[in-house]
Amino acid sequence: MFEISRRDMILGAAGSYAAFGLDKPIAFVGTALAQQSTTQLFRKYKVGDIEIFSLVDGMRDVPLPEGVVRNVGLEQVKTVLRTAGRPDSQWPRRYIVMAVKLRDQLVLIDSGTGGHTVYGAGTGRLFESMAAAGLDPKAVKTILISHLHGDHIYGLMNNETNAQVFPDVEVVIPAAEMNWWTRPGVETLDLGPTRKGLARRIQTTLATWKNVRLFEGEPELLPGVRVVQAPGHSPGMVTHLLSSGDKQFLISADVVNFAPQIHANPEWQLAIDQDPQMAVETRKKIFDRAVADKLTISGTHWLMPNAGTFTRDGNSYVFVAEG
Ligand SMILES: [Zn+2]
Repeated sequence: MFEISRRDMILGAAGSYAAFGLDKPIAFVGTALAQQSTTQLFRKYKVGDIEIFSLVDGMRDVPLPEGVVRNVGLEQVKTVLRTAGRPDSQWPRRYIVMAVKLRDQLVLIDSGTGGHTVYGAGTGRLFESMAAAGLDPKAVKTILISHLHGDHIYGLMNNETNAQVFPDVEVVIPAAEMNWWTRPGVETLDLGPTRKGLARRIQTTLATWKNVRLFEGEPELLPGVRVVQAPGHSPGMVTHLLSSGDKQFLISADVVNFAPQIHANPEWQLAIDQDPQMAVETRKKIFDRAVADKLTISGTHWLMPNAGTFTRDGNSYVFVAEG
């Protein structure tokens, strides 16, 4: 296990941000940690009597596209990547499904990519990671969905036939997401290459399935699992807050969809966010809550280990990974 102290991170960042002419520190993750993390398929956390698992569905690095951040130049994005110990020409894409053991019940939060070709080689490893973690897919009783993007729902359906992968499981979806993706004309919108055909696929699968439950607002979906609204990346996206005793863990879906280190730059407007400005507002609200309530927080697309804690540092935040 690697341990990087907050002091080391601040000191490491202090030297580099000055050297790169940036106006604020950037949290630093060591190269050793990054390398070690590429081989581990799961991590396990505990919040009171709840067990939480990070399960790798896919890991791949893609060429860093121009315009990945709309309000910041590519050079600054590359600087952040280098400071984080990453190659500056590559965007490290990570797809991590969370599983929660609530007493005797196994719950998944989202379902991963299903290995769909749009997400490229090296994805669709959820069952492999579950096996590595000692989790049986047949034991899953409930799947809580954060939003209806393919990398979160295609694991629910067969890529050729659309048949349900979890036919006996209750799938719980924000009503605002379902309404948006099924409204007239949505399938004609250009929402980027990974969302091509998505609306139509939702309309012929999830929208017709009998085992889907919709909800509005911020209900408690299961004992100890409450919804926190997080619109922006997708119009009706939600996050899931787990509580046990005085401990809390927020599964934050795609509040941050650029690994690494966007927490040091919360104002970055990501092209991948459908409403980038709203996504920035949501991100800052969630980060402030994470600081105030001392949450442990995880993200679908963060580098492994993809959970940790936040502290505030001026207009920026410092993230310290756990595990
Ligand atoms: Zn996603």
